Amino acid sequence: MTDTFFGHVIDGEEVPSVDGATFDVWNPWTQEVFAQAAEGGPEDAARAVASSRKAFDEGPWPRLGRVERAAAVHRLADLMEARSDELATLDTTNMGKPFAQAKHDVGRSVQNFRFFADHQRDHTGETYPMDSGHHTYSEYGPVGVVAAISPWNFPLMMASWKVAPAIAWGNTCVVKPSEDTPASVTVLGRLAVEAGFPPGVINVLNGHGTPAGSSLTADDRVDRVTFTGSSATGKVVMASAAGHLAPVSLELGGKGANVVFEDADLDNAVRWTVEAIFRNSGQVCLAGSRLFVASAIYDEFMERFVAAAEALTVGDPFDPATKFASLASKRHFDKVTSYVDGVGADGGTVVTGGAADDGTWLVRPTIITDLPRTAPAYCEEIFGPVCVVNRFDSEDEAVGLANDTRYGLNAMLFTENLSRAHRVASRLRAGTVWVNCFFIRDLRTPFGGVGDSGVGREGGNFSKEFFTEPKAVVMQINR
Ligand code: NAD
Repeated sequence: MTDTFFGHVIDGEEVPSVDGATFDVWNPWTQEVFAQAAEGGPEDAARAVASSRKAFDEGPWPRLGRVERAAAVHRLADLMEARSDELATLDTTNMGKPFAQAKHDVGRSVQNFRFFADHQRDHTGETYPMDSGHHTYSEYGPVGVVAAISPWNFPLMMASWKVAPAIAWGNTCVVKPSEDTPASVTVLGRLAVEAGFPPGVINVLNGHGTPAGSSLTADDRVDRVTFTGSSATGKVVMASAAGHLAPVSLELGGKGANVVFEDADLDNAVRWTVEAIFRNSGQVCLAGSRLFVASAIYDEFMERFVAAAEALTVGDPFDPATKFASLASKRHFDKVTSYVDGVGADGGTVVTGGAADDGTWLVRPTIITDLPRTAPAYCEEIFGPVCVVNRFDSEDEAVGLANDTRYGLNAMLFTENLSRAHRVASRLRAGTVWVNCFFIRDLRTPFGGVGDSGVGREGGNFSKEFFTEPKAVVMQINR
């Protein structure tokens, strides 16, 4: 197989679909098809699950000692590290993100594997002495076959975030990348074979949500479903998994609030505000797409924010100077521009940005003011480089505005007042709150969202809970 074809990786081999179907794989910057991928159907999904089932029920992987399994996961991470240029090149080619950002994402993907390898290797259980002449302890065993379904915005990183804890804890896994970005995850599957993983431990199924993804979630041989994607799809995935009582972990959409108080360090706040909404061309679940600025500093902040947005170097994602590139697909470009196009009719003002209007799928860094709180661009996830700005006059008003959303993935706040930082962080309804920063993550902490942003948390012990079956053992000791 070459990099003009991305097959399924099933049972240690890269294979086409049973019926030979394929789909186009696009480069959004050049607007060219650069490869084909296997279009998975129900039969391919069933084959992938059967292979992972066998690898779990009969294979060595779940029965390896914790040290040996950790070493194997590190071997895979070593190969990813050695091939990081190739992986980043594929993500940039396939998704359009600037190459430096793709390299950063690959580095974080490698760290995901290393972290969960070590976390599993060094984990502890609980023991409790009992007054009845017994003692009891817990054991954390693997759960079985995991279906992992990932989106296109961080093609490798989002998949690694699921595959790494799943396999580190002794499970086997079928991962289905987005149909928009099959490239790097297919290479991950190839690298697992190269690393000597037993067949079926990491299977890659390519294809569309329906039927490839939906066949996985509906399969009663699947024990856990971990999904990252839109809130609408998350509901479908949860209903499907409920059919066979498979627990789900859902990392869904967001409409992040970014609150800048009058006592913020403005240099720092502007820097992170730009990063929060324009990194990855705004195609980030955590994007700070709703910005609230204290009236006392509104004019000064906006002048600096707009200038910084307009100063971002836009262009070819492989040019090292580029900080901002096109959207990931024509479909997504159409979606983002339709939101921006509706702003005027809703009474809003596009201060800067909008579609590049040059035939590319580029939407320039876009800043919008004066939008009513009922406008679609104000309340729905756009998932693009579009920031809606409002002002506030008090801390209470800021918290009320920030929490006025169905989403609750994350929020940012900028202040130099220590008490206010803690007070407001505690009042914000969100799975993660960043104070004076953005996008920094410690893998031991919980990650996930409230409301329409998701179900469950992953990271550290939260992943351990999801990817293991805890067992209580009670032992009589007074005989
Ligand atoms: P999407 O929901 O369209 O697709 C996500 C994945 O689900 C894809 O692999 C797709 O093929 C698959 N899928 C689609 N329908 C399916 C079905 N019926 N059954 C099973 N699988 C199905 O989302 P997207 O457009 O790829 O990604 C963007 C969304 O992801 C945004 O809403 C974004 O906020 C969210 N996201 C969330 C996080 C997070 O951590 N919370 C991270 C990244 C992206």
